[in-house]
Amino acid sequence: MADELERKFDVKIQTTEEKVKFPAELKERLKESGLMDDKGKLKLKGVSPKMLKRMKQEFVNCPVLKEDIQFVQCFICPNFQSRVMGEVLCKGDPLK
Ligand code: SF4
Repeated sequence: MADELERKFDVKIQTTEEKVKFPAELKERLKESGLMDDKGKLKLKGVSPKMLKRMKQEFVNCPVLKEDIQFVQCFICPNFQSRVMGEVLCKGDPLK
């Protein structure tokens, strides 16, 4: 077992004051995986409402998709390993 997580990128988490909208596609994905209820409320395990509120204003410039994406989307990404000191440890595998 490897002690060190295998990862390619440390991606800085950035914050925006703007209200970020969830793209319809992301909402669908969240609903499918049971992370969002029918009213559009997020239900992430181990994430408090306060944290959630903050998470919604965070984004990362994803090195794989090469665009800014919401932290919530990053959080459920198969490449997401953990969040450490304001950075996402990202596996960096190609996403389909
Ligand atoms: S975990 Fe996924 S969404 Fe987040 S930075 Fe890595 S590839 Fe992009």
